[in-house]
Amino acid sequence: MVKCTECDADIKIPNDAIEGEIVTCPDCGASYELTKKNEGFNIKPAQVVGEDWGE
Ligand SMILES: [Zn+2]
Repeated sequence: MVKCTECDADIKIPNDAIEGEIVTCPDCGASYELTKKNEGFNIKPAQVVGEDWGE
């Protein structure tokens, strides 16, 4: 579990998540890219270039 840096909401990370996967904040919709941390994941803001957001 990580915190959204925009609104401080909890963002769930799937158990089968992989590095580089994009997660989206359920509250504000911000997108983050997963980066590997020792025992889990960290997030960094994803570069969204105005493409369609899919799903
Ligand atoms: Zn948020």
